Amino acid sequence: MIRLEGKVALITGASRGIGFATARLMSEAGATVVLNYNRTKGPAEELAQQIKRSGGKALAVKANVADRGEVEAMVDTVIREFERIDILVNNAGIWTYGEIDTMPDEVWDETMDINLRGVFYCTRAVVPHMKRQGGGRIINLSSTAGQRGEAFHSHYAATKGAIISFTKSLAVELAPHNILVNAVAPGWVDTEMSAEALEQEGDKITSIIPLRRPGKAEEIAGPILFLASDLASYMTGEIVNVNGGNVLCG
Ligand code: NAP
Repeated sequence: MIRLEGKVALITGASRGIGFATARLMSEAGATVVLNYNRTKGPAEELAQQIKRSGGKALAVKANVADRGEVEAMVDTVIREFERIDILVNNAGIWTYGEIDTMPDEVWDETMDINLRGVFYCTRAVVPHMKRQGGGRIINLSSTAGQRGEAFHSHYAATKGAIISFTKSLAVELAPHNILVNAVAPGWVDTEMSAEALEQEGDKITSIIPLRRPGKAEEIAGPILFLASDLASYMTGEIVNVNGGNVLCG
């Protein structure tokens, strides 16, 4: 029922995890997908080739989202290749450890640069094209950490909380241009990002999740696809919780 034929979607951090699952699902729904990666070329390139072999349209593009020049070059490439961008999924992110009294500037800055500045750069580069086209969808990846905080990951939680207020601000600012801006806030998801924590503390973590398991990347990709679709045409400024019931907030 959800079809995205004729739509061009740019998904950052699509080399694995939630971004990869989103790119695959959007492609299955008929979208042209641009898979951004930074360091891990292989899987993004392979998925793009696989999509093309089965008759779809896809492109893998390397860019560090924290680098303004690389982001602008990536968006230029998408416009040159496909002439439009209908959907931006700001998914690229990192999750590192940091106790506040010993956190080096570099650890703080790296998280700010990738998780927040990267979202700003990608959004700023894409919005003029969406305005010109008469609309678009922006879907940002927040986290339960941005809603309730996260001890020993305060830098990460600060970026994910900022994503929520960024999403709400742009929802109102861009509504006159028919650009709908929403966020998805996952809880624990079984990806490379959380693999070590789930391996070491899996039982403790799942014991406080009402559904008693972490989510799968595909279970986050589904709500992202919904937000990109015509079914979500009256939703903007919303933070969609996808967390197995772990954090219940409206
Ligand atoms: P993941 O498996 O670690 O994947 C992260 C992706 O981001 C990779 O494709 C990585 O690509 C890319 N990336 C990292 N730094 C980048 C940069 N500077 N420029 C471009 N791409 C970059 O993580 P995930 O679990 O799928 O997480 C995806 C999003 O969901 C993140 O924003 C994360 O904060 C959020 N989230 C995840 C969870 C969870 O439990 N997993 C929970 C809540 C929210 P390269 O390897 O090519 O650099």
